[in-house]
Amino acid sequence: MSPLKLVAAGVTDVGRVRDGNEDGFLVDARTSLVAVADGMGGHRAGEVASATALEALRAAVASGEPIRDAIVVANDAVVEKSVSDQELQGMGTTVTAGTLASGGTLLVGHVGDSRAYLVRDGVLSQVTKDHSLVEEMVREGELTPEQAEVHPQRSIITRALGIDPQVEVDVYPIELRVGDRILLCSDGLTTMVRPDEIGGILGREDIAERAAQQLVDAANAAGGEDNVTALVVDVVEADGAPVVAPAHADGGDTAETAAVKPRRRRGRKVLRALLWILPVLAVLALAFGAVGWYARRTYFVGVDKNRVTVFQGRPGGVLGWDPTVERRTTINLNELTDTEKASVKDNKTFSSRGGADDYVTRLRNAVEERTSATTVPLPPESTVPPLTAAPPPP
Ligand code: MN
Repeated sequence: MSPLKLVAAGVTDVGRVRDGNEDGFLVDARTSLVAVADGMGGHRAGEVASATALEALRAAVASGEPIRDAIVVANDAVVEKSVSDQELQGMGTTVTAGTLASGGTLLVGHVGDSRAYLVRDGVLSQVTKDHSLVEEMVREGELTPEQAEVHPQRSIITRALGIDPQVEVDVYPIELRVGDRILLCSDGLTTMVRPDEIGGILGREDIAERAAQQLVDAANAAGGEDNVTALVVDVVEADGAPVVAPAHADGGDTAETAAVKPRRRRGRKVLRALLWILPVLAVLALAFGAVGWYARRTYFVGVDKNRVTVFQGRPGGVLGWDPTVERRTTINLNELTDTEKASVKDNKTFSSRGGADDYVTRLRNAVEERTSATTVPLPPESTVPPLTAAPPPP
């Protein structure tokens, strides 16, 4: 039994732009579970995704699964529902969830761009790292954190539940102390309200439910462009009461899974597009490599700068793979007979460099024979010699 308990209060709101709320949150007193989920998908599918994930998460934690495994179970539930119903195809959801382990450790499991923050001794710190495009760009040094805050693609996430049967879950352990305050929230808060303002509200307002409401109000005052969810969790000394007590008026076990609202569509659709595009790009890269291999494995004999020349590649090139000069010979085009010229200009191809070289050798022998015939009179029986009878070059 933990020496600590959690007192939690959450508020979720549609915001000022979207038609419905696809966010949800969960407070389960029996299992000391708190969670936020932000769904995505058309026609209310996002609302189904977040609610499905939260319900599956609750059941899995209740049956004793540790947080990481419980989130994997939640992923399975969303994937299963998604493939079973045409209207729900492609739906997904973030999840950021905490369970209180014995000894007073909060284990925060996380997938997506919802967040967990810790307020300790008046200082706000972000616990989770977003699985988002801009977060990755910040990590790569391509964006500053300040640029990421206002980046137009800041809603594009790189990990979510429901998209793939495999999901990688990050788990952050927090050794809780009495007086700590945890905030779980959706990106509808963090894209609208700066961290210092979030910290200010959490520091000023002692009552968890009021703090949650003020955070939501601040997001709406800033434009409310997305659904917004704030779940404020206070760490207090255990006194025999339920380990997690919802702080709002209705009390008792609650599984709030607010929902309703399609909007955030653009970013989330891009995630799905990315997930499809990456394998397609991989296939294209393989195909490009295969074409290159096909294009480059051939040799042909042609003309370059009026000389007989051995090229690697296909005459004319293949899809951007242009032939390259392998060997420019000393044989001038005007030394060739019309028949030989025609053959060379026809770009005779060979499957190996050796084949092309042999062909050039035959041409050279023929040229040298003719030259010898005109400059060094040979006995009559030698005027039509086999190719091997040519004299060595000077
Ligand atoms: Mn959102």
